[in-house]
Amino acid sequence: MEIIDGNRIASEIVAELKAEVAAISGRKPCIALVRVGEDPASVSYVRKKEKTAAEIGITSRVILPPPTATQAELFTLIDTLNADPGVDGILVQSPLPDPIDELLVFRRIAPGKDVDGLGTMNLGKVAQDDDTGFVSCTPAGIMMLLSRSGVDLKGRHVVVIGRSLLVGKPVALLALQKKAGANGTVTICHSATANLPALARQADVLIAAIGRPEFVTADMVKPGAVVIDVGINRVADPSKKTGFRLTGDVDFASVSSVAGKITPVPGGVGPMTVAMLMRNTVRAFQLQARR
Ligand code: NAP
Repeated sequence: MEIIDGNRIASEIVAELKAEVAAISGRKPCIALVRVGEDPASVSYVRKKEKTAAEIGITSRVILPPPTATQAELFTLIDTLNADPGVDGILVQSPLPDPIDELLVFRRIAPGKDVDGLGTMNLGKVAQDDDTGFVSCTPAGIMMLLSRSGVDLKGRHVVVIGRSLLVGKPVALLALQKKAGANGTVTICHSATANLPALARQADVLIAAIGRPEFVTADMVKPGAVVIDVGINRVADPSKKTGFRLTGDVDFASVSSVAGKITPVPGGVGPMTVAMLMRNTVRAFQLQARR
């Protein structure tokens, strides 16, 4: 069994981007990181994105609208950032507090600055096999993890558990694309899927994006399968200083004895998400510079 080391692969991407940004003379790429409210996971994700941007040489602007910000106020903020030539990429950290409709906020971001790839145009381009857009960061990170680990999806059965707009649906579309490294045969499972364990057991590549700690157990995995665990779940653990531990959607202890390759949590998909956000930001800068 091989552990797919997301920290190592993300570090390679960060190093590549660092060299690319160092070669840029004049204004460096800039990302606006918008966080509304104090959700602890969001605070930590935005901090990590800020830190990685600094490591690469990308300028970041952290913008913290008040937790009471209205939808209209967020639209005005996005419009200002869309019009600002000094901002290349905009990320609005999910989840946004109620009653904000985050889909409408994502759609408001100009497609050329939508480095999180969650707007209609960029998601649509994924469905059209058009790689001129930005692929959302977690699905892009999963595909990069697979390709840099020597996993070609061509002709293989890929089972995705989860159909969210953030992960499940776009990663399924990417695996299905008629492109080198993809060309998978894809099954998508969700909460209404009948006989999910039997479908999961057919997977050559199993991608779990469910949000339920240790949902995937060894009896749901075909021996030798590649298992990608997207889940990041906080489970109460009084023995930890923080009071919780992070666990994935896969029961790593049992599944790692069956799988051929597996991603750990933490240190698997998580670092890739941040690396791909930075990659999209540098690309947004290059596209803007060419205009
Ligand atoms: P989500 O929007 O809550 O979607 C979860 C999906 O799992 C839904 O499609 C849901 O089905 C399905 N599901 C839930 N319970 C199920 C069950 N018992 N059987 C079968 N399917 C079930 O979550 P998400 O945003 O996709 O995130 C999934 C996980 O990935 C979370 O742990 C999240 O924290 C993590 N995540 C990690 C990263 C990263 O960088 N590593 C990035 C994003 C998310 P229905 O559609 O039928 O409700």
